[in-house]
Amino acid sequence: MAEHHDDLLEKDREYVWHSMKPYHPERTIIVKRAEGVWITDSKNRKYLDAMSGLWCVNIGYGRKELAEVAKKQMEELAYFPLTQSHSPAIELAEKLNNMLDGQYVIFFSNSGSEANETAIKIARQYYHQIGQSTRYKILSRYRSYHGNTLATLAATGQAERKYKFEPLATGFIHVMPPDLYRHPLQETINPRERRETKAIEEAITWEMKETVAAVIMEPIISGGGILLPPEDYLKAVEEICRENGVLLILDEVICGFGRTGKPFGFMNYGIQPDIITMAKGITSGYLPLAATAVKKEIYDQFKGGELYDYFRHITTFGGHPASCAVALENLNILEQEKLYQRSHKSGKQILQILKQRLLHTPYVGHIRGKGLLIGIELVSDKKLKTPLDVPYVNEVISYCFEKGLIIGKNGATVAGFNNVLTLAPPLTISEQEIQFLLEILVQSIDRLE
Ligand code: PLP
Repeated sequence: MAEHHDDLLEKDREYVWHSMKPYHPERTIIVKRAEGVWITDSKNRKYLDAMSGLWCVNIGYGRKELAEVAKKQMEELAYFPLTQSHSPAIELAEKLNNMLDGQYVIFFSNSGSEANETAIKIARQYYHQIGQSTRYKILSRYRSYHGNTLATLAATGQAERKYKFEPLATGFIHVMPPDLYRHPLQETINPRERRETKAIEEAITWEMKETVAAVIMEPIISGGGILLPPEDYLKAVEEICRENGVLLILDEVICGFGRTGKPFGFMNYGIQPDIITMAKGITSGYLPLAATAVKKEIYDQFKGGELYDYFRHITTFGGHPASCAVALENLNILEQEKLYQRSHKSGKQILQILKQRLLHTPYVGHIRGKGLLIGIELVSDKKLKTPLDVPYVNEVISYCFEKGLIIGKNGATVAGFNNVLTLAPPLTISEQEIQFLLEILVQSIDRLE
């Protein structure tokens, strides 16, 4: 077995270009199978995957129901593009509409980046359709991540991911995000007057509102370090968008499908976005799929009789029948097993224990989260909130890894500093597994010198 492993690893090094440099190349594992929250590597070592792959395996690994649905669908109709239609796409669009509590039309694609790219293009064309073609700018926030394409990377607010690919798509503006650790909530003032909200309103004014098409944001910035907004922030942003005729796009790629304890992250904050993008948890990662939900009144503007009134945007695999069938089964499981509620409950429990056991320790500056989307910000000086140096953060990650626990590190408090440990386990994680996760995580931080 070890020989086979070494052989595979050698070929991996030679032939596979991984999407990120591994933290420790010598510790690359080859994942062979997975069940529940556990993955098993080619040396038969088991790890609790507290990152759900890349924030996506919401219902856990190894669910035979999904494999069976995919097989059945492939036997019946393996593929047809959505230039025509098929029942898995129709049923899934109807189901998403019911979940979203509004009137939306769904455009399917294959990844979160594509879902956001599609949303940006729809927003821009929409303003042409209604005779306001000066509106093209897209406003987003520093520290956000929206995808790997030239437009979604332009919307992304992490310079270190972007600067070697510039120039990117143009017309993107960034403003400061809420960061309740570094800029505590200004409690006493009207939410519209707070610095984070004001930044959006002022940017729209300074840019001339007639040039701004949309604001795009995650309900909770995830990859940028689990930045929760003040409870009334999104409502204020929604108001600003409405007053200025700007569309509000919510990127639910990570926050959707129970990650924050609700079907969609925006549902924690009482708003109704114009466009909602989703991927990852839509199939729990079992097959690629993404979706852009667009309010019907926007879609209606694309139905004119002129040649270029329609949305000139095509995808070969978007809305693949097997992916849609798998998504439907995934959504059934999320509902039947009450995983939204479970995410809320388990998240609260984990946060409470982490705060009790870690907040008083020297390197833990802040612990935050909603549902099973949790961040622990490590600092070297609690008063100054200086981000902990990367080698120490890596030490924590490595210790967990050696003990069989996979956690993430994210955030860019200062560009390049990934000093926020992240947890996003499958929503099915059991009580016993939570105890295992907490035990190792606490040890890994306690032993920092
Ligand atoms: N939006 C957010 C918030 C994400 O976190 C990601 C990926 O992590 C994306 C978009 C891009 O998704 P994908 O990697 O599927 O293209």
